[in-house]
Amino acid sequence: KFNTNVGQHILKNPSIADAIVAKANLKPEDVVLEVGPGTGNLTVRILEKAKKVIAVELDPRMAAEVTKRVQGKPEQKKLEVLLGDVIKTELPHFDVCISNTPYQQISSPLVFKLLALKNAPRTSILMFQREFALRLTARPGDALYCRLSVNAQFWAKITHVMKVGKNNFKPPPQVESSVVRIEPKTGPDRPGVSWDEWDGMLRICFVRKNRTMRASWLGTKEVLAMLERNYRVYCALNNITLDDTVIGEEDEMDVDEGMGIDDDGDEWAGINDEEDDMPEFFKEEAQKSANQTPTKTKSKRKKTRVAELVREKIRKVLEDVTELADQRAGKCDENDFLKLLYAFNQEGIHFA
Ligand code: SAM
Repeated sequence: KFNTNVGQHILKNPSIADAIVAKANLKPEDVVLEVGPGTGNLTVRILEKAKKVIAVELDPRMAAEVTKRVQGKPEQKKLEVLLGDVIKTELPHFDVCISNTPYQQISSPLVFKLLALKNAPRTSILMFQREFALRLTARPGDALYCRLSVNAQFWAKITHVMKVGKNNFKPPPQVESSVVRIEPKTGPDRPGVSWDEWDGMLRICFVRKNRTMRASWLGTKEVLAMLERNYRVYCALNNITLDDTVIGEEDEMDVDEGMGIDDDGDEWAGINDEEDDMPEFFKEEAQKSANQTPTKTKSKRKKTRVAELVREKIRKVLEDVTELADQRAGKCDENDFLKLLYAFNQEGIHFA
C-alpha cells in the first residue's frame, strides 16, 4: 500500500506525532505548511492548533486520504491540499513548516528552498534521516561537515530536537531519524551578503572539502575559466578595459589536474560525499575534458593577460589577504568563508 520509493513511511507512534507538533509552538493565527501529509497523522494534530494548513503531497492517493480524513468536520475548511512536488511548487506564505520529510534526495533541496525564501517562516520542524540531521548541525572538522552545514548554519539557527527510532514508522525505514528545528535568521541577524555570491563561492570551496584552498581554486582549470568569465562580465559592467594580449600557451596545471585526485588521496577516493553538490557547470566541464584525448600534442589554450590577472588575484586573496591557501574547506568556519568572500569581491571576483 505504501510507496517507499517516495518515502512513504507513516509515523505510527501517536506520542511522537504529538511531540513534533508541540515542538512547533504553534499559535492560533499560524498558517502551517506541511510537506508530505501522507495519511494525515500530523495534519490532524496541526489543524487542532493552527489557523490553516497548506499540505503539499506528491501522491494523489495520499492527497485523497488526508482530504477524506477531515471531510465533513470543521477542520475541513482549514485544510488546503496542493497536489505536486514540493520542490517544484510555488509556495504561498506560511509561518511554520512541519514535515516528516519524504526521502533522502529531497532533504537537501527542501532545506535550501526553505532557507532561500524571501518571506522566511518563523520556524521549521523537520524529521530527517539521522545522518542528514547530523550534516545540518556538523561543525568544522567533523566528518559530516559540508556545504549544506555551512549554508544552513549561516542562514538559520539549527537545533537537534529529538531522535526517533525506525520502529516508530510503518513500514520501518532502514535508518534512524532525527527531528531538527530550523529558525531562519531575520532582521539584523540575517547576514548582509548575497545568497548567490555566498553559495557560488562555497560550491567551489566544497567540490573537494579535503583539498587545500590553493588546489581547489588554482589547480582546477574549470574554476579558473569560470572566474575569468565572471571577471570579464564584471569589467564590462564597470567599464574596466582589459588587456587581452596573448602571452603564450596555458601552463600545465602545477597543483593537480582539474577534477583529479585530491591531495588527501584515499580519504575520499570513491566516496566523494560532495558529489551531489558539484554544480552542473563543473560536471559538464569535467565531462568535456574527460572526452578529450589526453595527448600532450593537443593544441593548448592560449594564455592571455586577463587569465594571468585573474590567477594572480586569486593567489593574492588566498595567500596574502586571507592566508587561507593551505586551509581545507572542511576545517574552515563561517568567519573564514566570510573573509574569503569579502576579499574576492574586493578584487572584483564574483560568483553569481
Ligand atoms: N506525514 C505523514 C506521516 O508523518 O505519517 C507521511 C510522511 S511520509 C515519510 C512522506 C510523504 O511525503 C508521503 O506521503 C509521500 O507521498 C510524500 N512525498 C514524497 N515526495 C514528495 C514531494 N516531492 N513533494 C511532496 N510530497 C512528497
